[in-house]
Amino acid sequence: MKGIVVKSTGSWYLVRDTEGKLHRARLRGKFKLKGMKVSNPLAVGDRVEFDVETTGEDTAVIHHIETRENYIIRQSTHKSAHTHIIAANLDQAMLIVTLVSPRTSFGFIDRFLVTAEAYDIPTIIVYNKTDLYDDQMQEYQRQISHMYEQIGYKTMAVSAHNNEGIDDIKELLHGKTTLLSGHSGVGKSSLINLIVPDLELKTSEISGFSDKGVHTTTFAEMFEIDPETFVIDTPGIKELGIVDIPKNELGHFFPEMRKLLNKCRFNNCTHFNEPGCAVVEAVRHNEISLTRYESYLSMLMGDDNRK
Ligand code: GDP
Ligand code: ZN
Repeated sequence: MKGIVVKSTGSWYLVRDTEGKLHRARLRGKFKLKGMKVSNPLAVGDRVEFDVETTGEDTAVIHHIETRENYIIRQSTHKSAHTHIIAANLDQAMLIVTLVSPRTSFGFIDRFLVTAEAYDIPTIIVYNKTDLYDDQMQEYQRQISHMYEQIGYKTMAVSAHNNEGIDDIKELLHGKTTLLSGHSGVGKSSLINLIVPDLELKTSEISGFSDKGVHTTTFAEMFEIDPETFVIDTPGIKELGIVDIPKNELGHFFPEMRKLLNKCRFNNCTHFNEPGCAVVEAVRHNEISLTRYESYLSMLMGDDNRK
């Protein structure tokens, strides 16, 4: 049978077959990723083939993993340096942010976008809690959104509280597998509640399969909206794994800078203090936003931790 992993604890997996039925499964033998020490060989979103054993426990055995289109990781901070695979086969990411309670910083947004660029995952920026914005803030939000749209990112303004913009979100999700991300408190759970039908039922089904003693809360979960549409929630994971990007390549992951890369005098320009830098010139002429350039510089200097 074929299926998709909707939950992974590292030793047990929950697999959804093509009919939508859930199977508790384990892996046959050992799978290894070349050159990587991973703490979990299978992740949410992995497409697998499995057999259901008719005798004994109702346990399925996964014997094949399809090649991943992409996957996002989190590097362990421990010395053993195991890589944790958060999720696989994503079509897009949706970053939930807000201007108030609590305000999401540009630094956080831009760091997320850089990582998503590095993974080649298109990102939609969703401003939530618009019911709390006054006129001035609404205007400000429109300006920010316009700025990100100019760079090539889709943006939306919604309110989970007023049920506004939820249908637009559903439309963008349709037919795709989407990673939902955001700082805690921005309203991610509220939005998931509005987007995923029968969420309570699905959550209890999924947690019913949990392993005792495993830190399941730090593992991603995948929810079905319809048989072609899935969202992946990553409770407890604030940010995507930082991809190691050499300083003179950081500009590749800012689309508005990427366009100018061969216009700088030096082809290894870091767009900081080099003469003949097309990026600095574009910032001077307001063709590149100052906040984006500030995010770029703080990432370049490596002083952007946890802002
Ligand atoms: P999460 O941590 O991102 O999952 O955020 P929650 O969904 O738990 O929401 C955090 C708080 O913000 C809760 O008190 C929600 O009721 C509130 N909240 C979520 N969305 C909105 C919204 O659109 N407007 C307002 N006013 N409050 C919201
Ligand atoms: Zn430059």
